[in-house]
Amino acid sequence: MLHGYDLATFRKRLLGWFRQFRRDLPWRRTNDPYRIWLSEIMLQQTRVAVAIPYYERFLERFPDIQTLAAAPQEEVLRLWSGLGYYSRASNLQKAAQQIVGRHGGQFPAREEEVLALPGIGNYTAAAILSIAFGEKRAVLDGNVARVLARLGALRGELRTSQRCQRLQQNANSYLDPQSPGDWNQAMMELGATLCTPKSPRCLLCPVSQFCEARKLGIAESLPEKRKKRATVEVTLAVGVFTDGNGRTFLLPPPVNSEERASADHVPTLVSRMWHFPAVSVTGDPAAKLRAYLRKLRCGAGKGNLRLIRAGKVRHAVTYRDITVLPYRIEVKKLPHVSGAKQVPLVAVSSLPVSNLTRKVARAALLAEPRAREKGER
Ligand code: SF4
Repeated sequence: MLHGYDLATFRKRLLGWFRQFRRDLPWRRTNDPYRIWLSEIMLQQTRVAVAIPYYERFLERFPDIQTLAAAPQEEVLRLWSGLGYYSRASNLQKAAQQIVGRHGGQFPAREEEVLALPGIGNYTAAAILSIAFGEKRAVLDGNVARVLARLGALRGELRTSQRCQRLQQNANSYLDPQSPGDWNQAMMELGATLCTPKSPRCLLCPVSQFCEARKLGIAESLPEKRKKRATVEVTLAVGVFTDGNGRTFLLPPPVNSEERASADHVPTLVSRMWHFPAVSVTGDPAAKLRAYLRKLRCGAGKGNLRLIRAGKVRHAVTYRDITVLPYRIEVKKLPHVSGAKQVPLVAVSSLPVSNLTRKVARAALLAEPRAREKGER
């Protein structure tokens, strides 16, 4: 750990570097806690370059907490559509509604009140409080953890609770109390631009003289790799109904987690947003899909549904490797399914749906009549 003169020099170098070389990002031009909060939520699972246009479009439509709180959820999801991890968007709106209800629409400045908001954990709270309110809270995210592990040449798995505590203590002790917001951003910027997971650019690093891993020549091998979770392969059969006018229907997302948990026939991978009827399969996919459609009362019981394979779609979500088998089902009249909405198949991609649903819609549209006849089950 650094103390006294070394600590002061370390802080001065890192802050000086950050203020000279930081990237000009839209959320760095404001102290508005709403905008900083939004950027932190978007950046949780998304790269900066991808997040920027979403951030700008979102703020154009929802310029403040009140507008976001009052918007239809479907519109919030539509503007999030393509970013994935949609619980982030619904939590964001729920938190906005709580801020309007409990805090008069003003983002709270007290830590316990911030942490009580849905979707906000220690990292996000520390980022908002330090950047927007100048509170002395050190952030610890993946980038900062990597920088700290290398600075102190810490070996072993970083995600154990003991190691996290140690890293948080280190982050707290480095924090510049005069400029906590800039300091946190400087640490994250160092991790994002120079102290990268592969090939850290130590020659350009403003604090290389304080880095134990660089001195030992082990920077690139830290943090030590954790054991990878084995990939799980999942196969889904998805039914895409179309009537003579090219219309299809989508099922609504379950309204709460209980409904999600009980809906074992509707894989949660596709059901957080509007989706085609889908079922996980192991054996005969068409038979399993027919049985599911029968439960949904889509007319499969009468034995008059023709399921036509529309190619194959691959999709990956975290450790899951998903094979999707779309089936186009042409009917004279779409079945009436409770809560479903009917839309033109060509318009599905512009609705608030997941990327997986978009891929399925595209595959169903692309299926050539002859190819479909061939793949008929
Ligand atoms: Fe990271 Fe290299 Fe700087 Fe150490 S010297 S903090 S490993 S970039």
